Amino acid sequence: MKLSNLFFNTLKESPKEAQIISHQLMLRTSMIRQHTSGIYTWLPIGFRVLKNIEEIVRQNQDSIGCNEMLMSTIQSSELWKKSGRYSDYGKEMLRIHDRHDNELLYGPTNEEVVTDLFKDYVNSYKGLPKYLYHVQWKFRDEIRPRFGVMRGREFLMKDAYSFDLDHESAVDTYKKFFKCYLQTFLDLGLQPIPVKAATGAIGGDLSHEFQILAKTGESELAYDSKLVSDDLIDKSYEEITSMYSASDEMIDKNKSDVVIGRGIEVGHIFNFGTKYSEPLECYVLNNEGKRINLHMGSYGIGVSRLTAAIIEAYHDDKGIKWPFQISPFKINIISALKDEKLTADQDLYLKLSNKYKNISLDDRDLSLGKKIKDSELVGVPWTVIIGKNHEQNNQYEIINRSTGEKLFLSDNEVENFSFEQYTP
Ligand code: ATP
Ligand code: MG
Repeated sequence: MKLSNLFFNTLKESPKEAQIISHQLMLRTSMIRQHTSGIYTWLPIGFRVLKNIEEIVRQNQDSIGCNEMLMSTIQSSELWKKSGRYSDYGKEMLRIHDRHDNELLYGPTNEEVVTDLFKDYVNSYKGLPKYLYHVQWKFRDEIRPRFGVMRGREFLMKDAYSFDLDHESAVDTYKKFFKCYLQTFLDLGLQPIPVKAATGAIGGDLSHEFQILAKTGESELAYDSKLVSDDLIDKSYEEITSMYSASDEMIDKNKSDVVIGRGIEVGHIFNFGTKYSEPLECYVLNNEGKRINLHMGSYGIGVSRLTAAIIEAYHDDKGIKWPFQISPFKINIISALKDEKLTADQDLYLKLSNKYKNISLDDRDLSLGKKIKDSELVGVPWTVIIGKNHEQNNQYEIINRSTGEKLFLSDNEVENFSFEQYTP
């Protein structure tokens, strides 16, 4: 992408309405623009980041045999009346009437819709377990939308749903999602802390939230320091959940050897048995021809919230420091050569674009200093400067956004350099 074509602006100052760093930086780099309270437009840079996060979430869901699909945003109220949640959900639900006065709603979550769908397609216990998911916009009329996309009213969520024949197999499924979630957050460059959670409006008896540490997080956390060790993913579900972790009112202040911190909830998983399959009559026939209500679970990840959560985890006073896999651009090429005939920047841009997706070339009519500042603010892992060193020694100056370290590489070296080996 040539930055002369990119729809973006950078702001030197933080807009006053933004209280936390991620919100400030998302506005300063034109990632998002508020349309109205808690509802945002995703501008090109923000949209790239959102898609990159979504893709990592998707790959992890696919790896456990979860089927991607897409359910509608608008739902009929009928199923919610059957499950009893139409009244329970309260003011957070956006209710709509169509021209025929049918009661519709903008989906805040999809348990009812997916349960009603499943019952028409799977009739035999032989087809179980099955997992379905989608990445879709949700609407919850939050009483206090705040911190930008961290707590929006319209937000992007990955929500998965599982169907098992009995409790035991549903618990195995739950553990599979639990491990998949840990891997997902690690792949996003985050350090997840699983916390046993209250089940709230979704219901059920087994539930964990996945929190990531951030000073500005909305939840207070207390956790065993072993939960942030490098080998967490190699431990079993039982080992991990036997370690102490709690949030907010569940914190036991008398516990010793625990770390107290603040966290952002980026995922939440639930096992709720037959809570929805019973009222919505989602059952299969077992080998004796008897009706068995399916045991279900649901598994959410806040995809749009993650854009902000990752910034909370990775920034400094110059701006954002994106993990390589999330960054809207992997390498930003800046030419400081004056002679218009020189095309070293274009050549390098073409070469690197063959190797990596999402390379940017800053061909805007701005000073070198301003271009470097923008590259730092936007948080691109690598900036390649073609300047004096190129004229004199045919070398490119490569700046690592995270360490500030500079490397001087020849044509050949820059082509073979492993840019993906980058720690934010
Ligand atoms: P919270 O406790 O933060 O209000 P929740 O428990 O209501 O969240 P879930 O129903 O568990 O949320 O939704 C799954 C995930 O969706 C959450 O873990 C969170 O990452 C994300 N999420 C929920 N509400 C919002 C929101 N208003 N804005 C952005 N992301 C959200
Ligand atoms: Mg929750």
